Amino acid sequence: MLEITPIPAFSDNYIWLITQPGSRQAAVVDPGDAAPVQAVLEDRGLELAAILVTHHHPDHVGGVGILAADDVPVYGPAGETIPALTHALRVGDQVKLSNPAIRLEVIEVPGHTLGHIAFAGDGLLFAGDALFSGGCGRLFEGTAAQMLASLTRLRELPGDTLLYCGHEYTLANLAFARAVEPDNPDLAKRLQQAREQRDNQQPTLPSSLDEERRINPFLRWDQPAVKAAVTEHAGRTLANDTEIFAELRAWKDNFKPPQ
Ligand SMILES: [Zn+2]
Repeated sequence: MLEITPIPAFSDNYIWLITQPGSRQAAVVDPGDAAPVQAVLEDRGLELAAILVTHHHPDHVGGVGILAADDVPVYGPAGETIPALTHALRVGDQVKLSNPAIRLEVIEVPGHTLGHIAFAGDGLLFAGDALFSGGCGRLFEGTAAQMLASLTRLRELPGDTLLYCGHEYTLANLAFARAVEPDNPDLAKRLQQAREQRDNQQPTLPSSLDEERRINPFLRWDQPAVKAAVTEHAGRTLANDTEIFAELRAWKDNFKPPQ
């Protein structure tokens, strides 16, 4: 019975607004900017009851200080410096809000940053910059092995889990995914759908975990077609999943989509 609404910020960030029909209390995830959140709250007559943060990057926490000023609790990773943090979270902790009524489990997903967490529960996954539709976050602080373990954990979530991530990167991610798996029919379908969504100024999110497992190369490092493509791109034998994943991530880092 929850309603999840994207609040666009900067050039391609999404701040996720969590509301419950009939209630005036709201929560937000990763408010990198306060102004667009305040505008939506005012416009809809909502009151902020909680702030959830996945990691410390400024485009995810830039608005936290201002929005938390009226004693709004801030839930975020224990391993990172988060402004106005009131609830330092570790793996297995739960965020339980009564209004909006939501219970989310904390999953530690190091890789993009070392303390990065994701929130999962009630069929929702707020993944920050760990997992995107069709892609994953860059390895700014962690290793490929850490990111592989993080995505392995997220990949195990129920297939109908809806993915709400931090950026509208889907089209660029799918262009790369197509280079890795040109013959994946689910990928072709998803690309067409995402293009239509963007042409209509709609977000490409959420997607489902089930769909991500079929189209996202960063959840498919152990699929024969992905392994073969990465090995060919590397031009050498790759010893294990970690090496394959590291090569896949490096390939994406240097990928220029065909114009
Ligand atoms: Zn980030």
